Amino acid sequence: MGQSLHWGLIGASTIAREWVIGAIRAQAGNEVVGVLSTDARRGADFARAQDIASSYTDLGALLANPDIDAVYISTTNELHKPQTLAAAAAGKHVLCEKPLALSLADAREMLAACAGAGVVLATNHHLRNAGTHRKIRELIRGGAIGKPLFARVFHAVYLPPHLQGWRLHSPGAGGGVILDITCHDADTLRFLLDAEAVEAVALSQQAELASGELEDGVMAVLRFDSGVLAQLHDAFTVKHVGTGLEVQGTEGSVIARDVMTQRPAGEIVLRNASGETVVAVEHENLYVRALRAFNTAVAGQGQPAASGEDGVRSVAVALAVQQAARTGRRVSIQYQ
Ligand code: NDP
Repeated sequence: MGQSLHWGLIGASTIAREWVIGAIRAQAGNEVVGVLSTDARRGADFARAQDIASSYTDLGALLANPDIDAVYISTTNELHKPQTLAAAAAGKHVLCEKPLALSLADAREMLAACAGAGVVLATNHHLRNAGTHRKIRELIRGGAIGKPLFARVFHAVYLPPHLQGWRLHSPGAGGGVILDITCHDADTLRFLLDAEAVEAVALSQQAELASGELEDGVMAVLRFDSGVLAQLHDAFTVKHVGTGLEVQGTEGSVIARDVMTQRPAGEIVLRNASGETVVAVEHENLYVRALRAFNTAVAGQGQPAASGEDGVRSVAVALAVQQAARTGRRVSIQYQ
């Protein structure tokens, strides 16, 4: 693309450090010029370690920097909304982490603020960028499995010890496995199936990691408007299992292993009347692809990989699963 895009990081986070800073720097003309942390020392240490020129503790000061065109928001989840509203008011484009917000109304407000300010709002649903998921979508759209009937998502993982904090113990920060992982499943299924989830049932578990009202495991079933039933299994507590996804149709099934991951990895098998075929996949760093699409969107030449509207919709599904698990009732999913 080659345009110049200067970034401010809102949040001295693990995801920024492990994946997103590198993905920004992989885009021609993109630079990270500042980072915001609530803690001056942590911000300065982060900036030094990541070779970022400035660190800030005041959001207004970061947003007042005229050299910053776009922000990447990767703070804890309750902060995404006020930080997005402030960034939009300052005329900065926004790449925001999921879940966009803790309520549908808040997520919609973020979308409206960015639209009103004429800035791009994208959601960092990385899985849409995986070569595996893009290939599965292509297979389904091309009729390789006939009419999709069922999907199953295996997304139980072990939350690494360095991340065992707010996700497990802080409802106010939007903790819990449903907002963290089910939200990604929802976006991935919408992307693969070209369909919207319309109702949810769920049971959740609090095993050995989460506390208070937060769940560290969930099994849910979604019904899509296409008729597909999807089974989701998400957890923070399972050490010795892989991730995966299956879509079963009238003429065949796609069976994907090791695909619910941040890494460009995984395999896909297509099973139909002819037997089993391993499907070739071109892997690419998911975050690099997401940042490329973001650059294209800012240049007015395309859409982000996952838009603000996509982020609103995955929040809506996750909130419905959370409500279904908490009430034991079947929940109709509301998007407005
Ligand atoms: P972290 O816990 O690493 O960071 C969140 C905030 O916690 C930071 O903004 C920082 O506050 C504070 N923090 C970070 N490290 C420390 C520390 N050592 N001591 C005290 N406070 C600290 O969260 P993640 O990076 O895991 O997640 C951030 C966001 O990104 C969430 O919204 C999450 O849902 C999302 N996410 C998305 C992924 C994806 O692939 N799309 C993957 C992982 C997370 P401050 O900025 O004030 O310093």
